[in-house]
Amino acid sequence: MAVKQIPLEPVLATLRPVSLTMHEIEVELFFPAEAVEGGAVLALPVWTPGSYLVRDYARFLDRLEVVDGAGQPSPFRKADTHRWRVEGSARGVKVTYRLFCNDLTVRTNHVDAHHAHLVGAATFLYVEGQPARPYEVRFEGWPKGWRAATSLPRREGSYLAEDHDTLVDSPFELGTFRMHTFRARGCEFQVAITGQHPGDEGRIMDGAEAIVGAAARIFGGFPFRRYLFLLTFSPKVRGGLEHRDCTSLLADPQQLERAEGYYDLFTLIAHEFFHVWNVKRMRDAVLGPFDYQAENPSRLLWFHEGFTSFLQYDLVLKAGVAPWSWVSRKLAASWTDNTTRAGRLEQSLEEASFDAWIRHYKPTEFSANSTVSYYDMGAMVGWMLDAELRLATGGAKGLDGLFALLWERHGDGPVTDADVRGACRDLLGRDPQAFWAAHIQGRAPLDAAGIEKAYGLRLNARAPWEALPGAEAEDPDALRRARVWAGLTFQGGAAVVQNVVPGSPAARAGLGYGMEILAVDGWRTASAQEVQGRLGDAGPGDQVQVLAAERGRLETFPMTLAENPQRAVHITTDPKATPAQKAAFQAWTGQPFPARRA
Ligand SMILES: [Zn+2]
Repeated sequence: MAVKQIPLEPVLATLRPVSLTMHEIEVELFFPAEAVEGGAVLALPVWTPGSYLVRDYARFLDRLEVVDGAGQPSPFRKADTHRWRVEGSARGVKVTYRLFCNDLTVRTNHVDAHHAHLVGAATFLYVEGQPARPYEVRFEGWPKGWRAATSLPRREGSYLAEDHDTLVDSPFELGTFRMHTFRARGCEFQVAITGQHPGDEGRIMDGAEAIVGAAARIFGGFPFRRYLFLLTFSPKVRGGLEHRDCTSLLADPQQLERAEGYYDLFTLIAHEFFHVWNVKRMRDAVLGPFDYQAENPSRLLWFHEGFTSFLQYDLVLKAGVAPWSWVSRKLAASWTDNTTRAGRLEQSLEEASFDAWIRHYKPTEFSANSTVSYYDMGAMVGWMLDAELRLATGGAKGLDGLFALLWERHGDGPVTDADVRGACRDLLGRDPQAFWAAHIQGRAPLDAAGIEKAYGLRLNARAPWEALPGAEAEDPDALRRARVWAGLTFQGGAAVVQNVVPGSPAARAGLGYGMEILAVDGWRTASAQEVQGRLGDAGPGDQVQVLAAERGRLETFPMTLAENPQRAVHITTDPKATPAQKAAFQAWTGQPFPARRA
């Protein structure tokens, strides 16, 4: 016998500005009687999906008041930092509170005189134990001419979220944004652009359309009817957050003064759009439904974020919106970072994923020596696996083919590490466990052999003195300066030590984090550049006297310099590349094999 589901009554939410310049808004929530019958606990999430850090959004919430259905103050008690216990009422209860919204990121609220960007997790209380309860959201009292952009459907002046997860997954942008639209494969795409910039919005739209087209070719279409890009320009910001039917993007307007800035924006768009499939639908079971009150650690972020960070380049290349010359420089820089970073052998990708909450999102001065990034290292390992797949399939399938197969098998549902390995096994025709043991569960160094073999590329590692330009390559002073190494990095331009590479000359000399280097061999050093310059007066094997200040005390550290072990990778094409390698390159990038040096 079928049991007829009685629809839950919605929470009625009304959002009003209090002071745009003070970044304050008021939220009014009416909880129907059935939601609070016998009392209820109302909670605010401590984090938002996609950004793996406990943010304690309740610290921005003030002046909470509760009245019953008759408008009389109703007792309530704060149960812990982010939960409130309210009494039941036969006519429902109305809760109002203020939110301070002054953090312009894709995972926090930002309200000012020009716009409002509101994220569900930071905005709406929910009834504990009632995740299926729908919400109706209205906006009142906002400036004349402002509109709202959201992926939620609209009915009679309200936006409807079918449950709390959907509400959290559907940010709102309010303001006077410019709305562009296009259609692809029967689906509607909207791009709401906020903020001034010197660029060409037609070019942004053409790029977005080409990118979604490239993704549809991998997955055979789109798993939605409508998709919304919220793109906000503001100086010195960059970021994106994925949602099922929408994404929030932040970009620096100045980047649109250069072609590379468009490539970077398109790569961000491609990354977030790939998440439509990878993490928002195919996902580790801990990543939805979520526990909004605690950390939800996943061992699969190398897959969800790292592989997406490789596929972002796949998409922009296939879409033809960024050239190989630019992508190859980005890949080379990431390969260099992940083959020289001091912590590259200290953490597996699984470990880096699981600890994202306390490591990646809470970096310290020691992070570079003790961690890898599941984004960057994950992307490079993804590239290696992409090459393995090409080699095993005669160039036909790479990581894109792996995702197409996973989508076919798992679609909108949970995916496990074993599922990913299983799909790999079926494409490779062999068990990929050795690769997993080395690069996912283990800490083996990156290996370019498969990439070179699959695509006819060369990943050449060059010492700093081999990369000197023009006449400097012949200049003995320039060569010595490039050769000498202390193992120090600095905080911006100041002569303050940011990192000391373990085992380096600086570490052996006793230099440490946060020390200010005042002089080298008696010469005053007022900046990081001057320290590097004075160190370059000596050569590998020479001893220098470093005067440094630590916690107010001055000390001289004798330091014996070494030869620079850093090697920077640059990517070229193999002049003897075979037709099969060239075909594999074209299958990967959608672009012809580069005629000469890449
Ligand atoms: Zn991502």
